[in-house]
Amino acid sequence: MSEPGDDTLGQPVDSLKGVGEALGAKLARLRIARVVDLLFHLPLRYQDRTRITPIATLRAGQEAVVEGEVAAAEVVKGRRRSLLVRLKDDTSLLSLRFFHFSPAQQQQFQPGTAVRCFGEARAGATGLEIYHPEYRLLRADTPVEEHLTPIYPTTEGLPQTRLRALIDQALTLLEEAPRALPDWIPEALRKRFRLPELQSSLRYLHQPPPEANLEQLAEGRHPAQRRLALEELLAHQLSLREVRQRIQQDGAPRLPSGCSLQARFLTQLPFSLTGAQRRVLDEIAHDLERPIPMLRLVQGDVGSGKTVVAAMAALDAIAGGCQAAMMAPTEILAEQHFRTFRDWFTPLGVEVTWLAGKLQGKARLDTKAAILDGRARMVVGTHALFQGDVHFQRLGLAIIDEQHRFGVHQRLALREKGEAGGLTPHQLVMTATPIPRTLAMSAYADLDVSIIDELPPGRTPVKTVAVPDERRPEVVERIRSACAEGRQAYWVCTLIEESEALTCQAAQVTRESLTEALPELAIGLVHGRMKAAEKAEVMGAFKAGELDLLVATTVIEVGVDVPNASLMIIENPERLGLSQLHQLRGRVGRGSTESFCVLLYHPPLSAHSRERLAVMRDTTDGFRIAEKDLELRGPGEVLGTRQTGLAQMKIADLERDKDLLDRIHSLAQALLEEAPQASRPLIERWLGEEAGRYGQV
Ligand code: ADP
Ligand code: MG
Repeated sequence: MSEPGDDTLGQPVDSLKGVGEALGAKLARLRIARVVDLLFHLPLRYQDRTRITPIATLRAGQEAVVEGEVAAAEVVKGRRRSLLVRLKDDTSLLSLRFFHFSPAQQQQFQPGTAVRCFGEARAGATGLEIYHPEYRLLRADTPVEEHLTPIYPTTEGLPQTRLRALIDQALTLLEEAPRALPDWIPEALRKRFRLPELQSSLRYLHQPPPEANLEQLAEGRHPAQRRLALEELLAHQLSLREVRQRIQQDGAPRLPSGCSLQARFLTQLPFSLTGAQRRVLDEIAHDLERPIPMLRLVQGDVGSGKTVVAAMAALDAIAGGCQAAMMAPTEILAEQHFRTFRDWFTPLGVEVTWLAGKLQGKARLDTKAAILDGRARMVVGTHALFQGDVHFQRLGLAIIDEQHRFGVHQRLALREKGEAGGLTPHQLVMTATPIPRTLAMSAYADLDVSIIDELPPGRTPVKTVAVPDERRPEVVERIRSACAEGRQAYWVCTLIEESEALTCQAAQVTRESLTEALPELAIGLVHGRMKAAEKAEVMGAFKAGELDLLVATTVIEVGVDVPNASLMIIENPERLGLSQLHQLRGRVGRGSTESFCVLLYHPPLSAHSRERLAVMRDTTDGFRIAEKDLELRGPGEVLGTRQTGLAQMKIADLERDKDLLDRIHSLAQALLEEAPQASRPLIERWLGEEAGRYGQV
């Protein structure tokens, strides 16, 4: 850390008295490496040991300090042998019970000895008892604790008392060298944003005064806690801004918009763009004309038509003499994009190239050569596209579909893919997962956002019903009649106990039983364990209308587009997150006939599951669903990745501290203007030194 003055706090913890290798290893498990880390290791909760509770007022379940004289002590033989100490104060009697005790301990409790102890009272054989209290024998007048007692998150073999003593040592060092822990948020800003000072906040949280509001502390809403949470969020925000800055330091190719390729493309499309699509395209065109890399997120609910927008942007890049690449998170989705782009671009004389991990041998070498010498203008594929051995001649635009599986690090890595002339490609990220405000903090914070907030005309919202699985025969009849009318249906099997193998097996069994029940239908199957070519063949057949019913695992979750499919059955929907259900359901309702989604659940449902299915039934608004999902499952799970930086928050809690997020942007802006030198140390304090290496991925 680049702190001025004394560096005692930056020293490794083993510089403290009594910290050897073994203790150091335990501390490391708590992510405490340096002395300063002890200061930021905050209590989970507090105990009030500042007051002595008269025995007569003690209640079962209460944690309290009690003081009295030993009236008697004896070893009793109940179901388990124990040492029973009767303790008496002016008000009543209480028993202390020890199941493990040494002869020396037994000796200590001579009648008349004054004892102070702390523990939880419970109803026992002799009335109120405390099992294994923390205790000490009193001399003259031993003072009670001055502060509330902090209880820290700890690890096996590291008792609270030991951890507390270490943190006390760190606090003492801080007292001696206050300059070692600068408050990087300058006073003027603290005043403006009404933030308490750093050191007093830390001290308060480690040693709250007896009158502190325990309830507020327990809820994490004390100003001292909020100050630290805010600083942590600020550090994350600053680091994301830094990433953005690094990317935008480089030049990008200027790509004038309105090329004739685009005009020809539009006349060949069977529909005209929605107002929202046009608006978003204007925003993109504006970015592409500038010589700095675009970093833009296009957010649009499932079915809002993001692919056309991507294609239009790609044509700008191609007309501008660059290559464009589109990456999707799964092979199925990438293949579908490949087909769509090929159908769209071939008539324009633009060849579309395919690259995925499974492409091997000579085909792979040929493809890589074409990407390197620039013959491949439009490349579509999976992650394989942006791996180390793939070199572009002149990549002008990288399009990433379904952002939530692509993080900051990958975004930085793309800098190197522009190759020629050191230019960095423009980046366009597309997501159907609407990003609730609370998540706008995370991996998305460094992107400009465009929203497609309008569905193409003629769509009818999907009607959703929840049906218990004993009514399966009715559901099967429903498929029969839909298909008899020339429509198509999906039957989705959900994940079984995190096992892909079992899930695929279940899908096979379901296919067999449905084939038996519906012999007149052509039924296909796709699951994650099939070869890419097999999957593509089945998907192709379904798209071409050769199959009536497609049994699938959640591999079809994103992006698959078959407008004639108007019925979807989701088996055991209670196993999936809301956003995932929304994605799946988005596979129907793409044509003009009314579509249905049947959530075939297995009763009984927990209250929680019932609530979730009710959300699906009641709304088709992706944004509301995402917010509800976040509320029910928390941010880590919704995004499903660690790369968002969400999981690593130490103090802040995005749900609880939602209201702080509104202030983060203006605080970060103000800090960068008024104290830019504080940005780096703040990032390092909260994200660690490796945050500094973001730029060298
Ligand atoms: P998503 O945003 O979920 O990726 P897609 O790009 O797959 O959606 O588009 C869904 C369907 O809507 C596709 O069949 C696409 O051709 C069609 N579509 C896109 N834009 C329009 C439009 N403006 N008018 C009518 N249909 C459209
Ligand atoms: Mg899509």
